[in-house]
Amino acid sequence: MFIAIEITYLVSSVLFIFGIKLLGSPKTARKGNLYAAIGMLMAIVATLLDQNVLTYEWIIIGIIVGSLIGTILAIKIPMTGMPQMVGMLNGFGGGASTLVALAEYYKINPNYPVDKGLPFLLPLDQGIAIVLSLLIGGVTFTGSMIAFGKLQGWVSGKVVKYPLQHPFNLLLLLAVIAGGAYVVINPSAMGLVLLITFVSLLLGVLLVLPIGGADMPVAISLLNSYSGIAGSTTGFVLGNNELIIAGALVGASGIILTLIMCRGMNRSLMNVVLGGWASAGSGGTGTATTSVKGDVKSIDSEELAMLLDSVSSVVIVPGYGMAVAQAQHAVRDLVNVLEKKGVRVRFAIHPVAGRMPGHMNVLLAEAQVSYDKLFAMEDINDDFPMTDVAIVIGANDVVNPAARHDQNSPIFGMPILNVDYAKTVIINKRSLNVGYAGIENELFFYPNSLMYFGDAKEAITKLTNEIKNL
Ligand code: NDP
Repeated sequence: MFIAIEITYLVSSVLFIFGIKLLGSPKTARKGNLYAAIGMLMAIVATLLDQNVLTYEWIIIGIIVGSLIGTILAIKIPMTGMPQMVGMLNGFGGGASTLVALAEYYKINPNYPVDKGLPFLLPLDQGIAIVLSLLIGGVTFTGSMIAFGKLQGWVSGKVVKYPLQHPFNLLLLLAVIAGGAYVVINPSAMGLVLLITFVSLLLGVLLVLPIGGADMPVAISLLNSYSGIAGSTTGFVLGNNELIIAGALVGASGIILTLIMCRGMNRSLMNVVLGGWASAGSGGTGTATTSVKGDVKSIDSEELAMLLDSVSSVVIVPGYGMAVAQAQHAVRDLVNVLEKKGVRVRFAIHPVAGRMPGHMNVLLAEAQVSYDKLFAMEDINDDFPMTDVAIVIGANDVVNPAARHDQNSPIFGMPILNVDYAKTVIINKRSLNVGYAGIENELFFYPNSLMYFGDAKEAITKLTNEIKNL
C-alpha cells in the first residue's frame, strides 16, 4: 500500500506541474485547472488510504462542512471580492500548517498529556520543520486575516505606523528563531512551543498591519507564497512527499506572481513587505496629489457613435470599472458591431488592471472575446500613435500619464498604457473620481481626450445601440 500511495503522490505532483504550466495561457487555463484538480483528488484519495488514519468519521464531517462553506462562499463572492477570498484561503492554509505542526509535536511527545518523565527524542530535521511550520504558518494565518480585514474595510486600509516598528518586529523574529533553536535541542519545553506559536501569530498581525490598502493584493500574493512554504515545511513534519512538493510549487509560483505584480506597479518587493517604510513616490497610499486643472470635454452616445463610424482602428483598454459594472458582455457586443463595420478592434491589457492578476483576461474570456484580440501592454503600447480611437472603459491609474513624468506622483515610474498617444481618447467612467491609487488623472484634461460619462454597462450598451441605428 505504501508504494501505491507514493506512486499516486508522484503522478499527482506531475499533474500539478503540468496544471501550472497550462495555466500560463488563457487558451489552456481550463485544462490546467482540470489537471490540477484531478491531481488534488488523487492526492486526497491516496492520503485517505494511509494506514495511519484511525477513524473516518471526523474526516467525512470536515469534508462535508468545508465543502459546504467553500461552495457557498465561491457562489456568493463577487469577482471584485476575489482578492479578499484568496487572502482568507491563504490564511486557512497557514492556520492548518500551524495546527498540524502542533498536533504532531504533541503526538510524538511521550510525556503528553501526562508527564511520565520519559526522554523526549525529537529528530533534528523534524524539530526544525515543526518550528518553521509554527513560524511561517502562524504569520500566514494572522497576516492573511488582517489582509482580508483591510480589503473588506473591517481594518484600516491606511499605512499604520508606530514607534520602533521594524526593530520590534525584528526582535520578535529573532526571539522565535532563538526559542525554536532551544526547542529543537530541548524538545520537552512545551511552554516555549506555545510561546513560539503565540509570537508568530502576533508577528503576522504586526507585519501586515503597516501595509497600505493599495499594496494589499501584492501582500496577499506574498502570503499565498508563505502558505505554500508553510505547507511544504509541514510536509517535512509529517514525512509526506506530496505536501512537500505541492507546498513548494505554491511557494515558488506565489513568489513569481508577487514579483510580476511588483514590476507592473513599479514597486520593490522590500518596499511592499516593509509597508511602513514606503515613502513619497513609492506608490499607492491612497492620498490625492495636487489637483489637476483644465477643461474637460465630454461626448454623448450619439456623437460617439458617429465618431466611431468613420474610424478604422480602435484599441479598448478595460479596467476595474468594467469589472464593477460587469460590462464585459456589453463590451463584446460593441466589438462585434464595430468589426461588422470593418473596424480593427484590439484590447490592451495592463498587468495590474482591475484588482487581481489576469482580472481583465478572466472577464473577457467569460464574455467569449477571442484571445487573439487581447494584447499585453508591451505588445501594443507602440501602436497607440497609429490608433484612431483608444476607448478606456473603467480604467484610471493604468492610463495616467503622470506615471511617465510627474516625479511627485505616487505612481511615478509605473508602466502605463500610452492611450494619450492615440488620435482620440474616449474615457468611459461615471465621474472624474480617482482610481485605486487615489490620485487625479491629467488624461481627462488632455486636448485629445473626451469623457463619455456613465456606468460602463449602460453606457456601452447605449453606444452599441446608437451605432446599430446609424
Ligand atoms: P482604477 O482603480 O485606477 O480605476 C477604476 C475606475 O473605474 C475608477 O476611477 C472609477 O471611476 C471607475 N468605475 C467604477 N465603477 C464604474 C462603473 N460602474 N462604470 C464605469 N466606471 C466605473 O482601475 P485600473 O484598472 O485603471 O487600475 C487598477 C489599480 O489597482 C491600479 O492602481 C493597480 O496598481 C491597483 N492594483 C491592481 C492589482 C492587480 O493585480 N490587478 C493588484 C493591486 C493593486 P468613477 O468612480 O468615476 O466611475
